[in-house]
Amino acid sequence: MSQLFPNYTRLPLEIAAGKGSYVTDTQGRRYLDFTSGIGVVNLGYGQPEIQQAMLQQADKLWHAPNLYTNSLQETVAQKLAKGPYLAYFCNSGAEANEAALKLARKATGRTKILTFEGSFHGRTFGAMTATAQESIHQDFGPLVPDFEYLPFNEFSPLQAALDEETAAVMMELVQGEGGVIPAEKEWVQKVAALCQEAGALLIIDEIQTGMGRTGSFYAFEQYGIEPDIFTLAKGLGNGLPVGAMLGKTDLQQRFGPGSHGSTFGGNLLAMAAANAVCTVLTDSPVLVNVTARHQQLMAGLTDLAQIVAIRGQGLMIGLELKDSAALQQAMTELRQAGLLVLKAGTNVLRLLPALTITEAEMAEGLAVLRHVLGTKEETTERRE
Ligand SMILES: *Cc1c(COP(=O)(O)O)cnc(C)c1O
Repeated sequence: MSQLFPNYTRLPLEIAAGKGSYVTDTQGRRYLDFTSGIGVVNLGYGQPEIQQAMLQQADKLWHAPNLYTNSLQETVAQKLAKGPYLAYFCNSGAEANEAALKLARKATGRTKILTFEGSFHGRTFGAMTATAQESIHQDFGPLVPDFEYLPFNEFSPLQAALDEETAAVMMELVQGEGGVIPAEKEWVQKVAALCQEAGALLIIDEIQTGMGRTGSFYAFEQYGIEPDIFTLAKGLGNGLPVGAMLGKTDLQQRFGPGSHGSTFGGNLLAMAAANAVCTVLTDSPVLVNVTARHQQLMAGLTDLAQIVAIRGQGLMIGLELKDSAALQQAMTELRQAGLLVLKAGTNVLRLLPALTITEAEMAEGLAVLRHVLGTKEETTERRE
C-alpha cells in the first residue's frame, strides 16, 4: 500500500531519467514527452547550460535568507522585467498568484477580484478561490470573500461587474488546465482599457503561457497589452521549484518592508536555474523554433479523424475529442505507443512539448498521434 495521500491519480509508470525531449521509465522504456513535466521542463531535460549553472551554484551556496542583498535575484529580476516592473520571488505558481492578489488589494484599497469561468490559478486559498471551477472548491469552503466569476471572452458581463470596488481582474491568456482556450485579442485589449479606466489592476497569470511557451517570452506581448501585474512559475526554473510575481514599478510603495515574504523565495539554486533559462530563451533561437514547430504540428493535425477542434498558441496546443471516454482511451493508446500527453478540461488532449523539440522529434510525435487518432482519409477508406 502507498504511504502517500491519494490526492493525485498516478499511473503505474515511474520516470527514472530524462534527456532533451525524452524520458525513460524504470523498466527502461523510452517515451517522447509532450508534457514537459506539465509545462515545466520547457527547455528539455538535462539542458546543459541550465544544469551547469545550477551545479556551479550548488558548489558555492544553496540558500541565503532574504535579510541580505541578493545580486542573483537582482539579475533574474532584470531579465524578467524587461521594462518598468519589479519582481518578487516565491516557490510556486499558487504563491505567485497569492502575492499578486495581496498586492492588488493593498495597492488599490479595494477588495473585489474578478476571474473567469474555466480558469486555473492554483490550489492555495486565494489562488483556489480565484480558480473558477466548482470541482476544485468542493468541500473546502468558506472561500476567500469578494471574488466573482465571469464568462471568458465575453465583455458585457465583465463591464457590468467591474466597479469602483474592484481591485483586480485576473486571467490567463490561454486557459491551460481549463481546456487550452485562447483569449481573444480584441477582448483582452478592451478588458485592459476598462481596468485602467476603473482604476482596477489587470493581473495576467503567465504561469503556463510564459517563458516562451506561446512563441513570445510572455504571451501578453502578442496581445499588445502591459499588465499591471503578471505571474510566472512552471517553466521559470526548467524543473527547479520557483515562482515570481512582477508588478509595475509604481506599485512599490504598497509592497514595502514586512508586507509579504517567503523563507525560500528566491532560493539561490532556483535563481541560478531561472537565470540560465532567461539567457537561453533570449540568446538562442528557441522562440523561432516554437513558431516553426507550431506550424509543423498544426499542419500534421488538420486531418485527424477523432478531433472536434484544435486550439492553442505556440507549443501549447489542445485537441478537443468528442468526450472524456475518448480522451482517456486516446491517452492510454498514445502512452502505449510511446508518447506522453496531458489532459485539459474534460475532453481536451493537451500537448506541451519541449520548446527545443527538433523537427524530427515533432515528426515522430505526429506519426504516433496520426496513428492513434486516425486520419480522415483512413476513416473514409474503412467506410468504403
Ligand atoms: C499550474 C498553474 C498554476 C499553479 O501553479 P503551482 O506551481 O502548481 O502552484 C497557476 N496558474 C496557472 C495558469 C497554471 O497553469
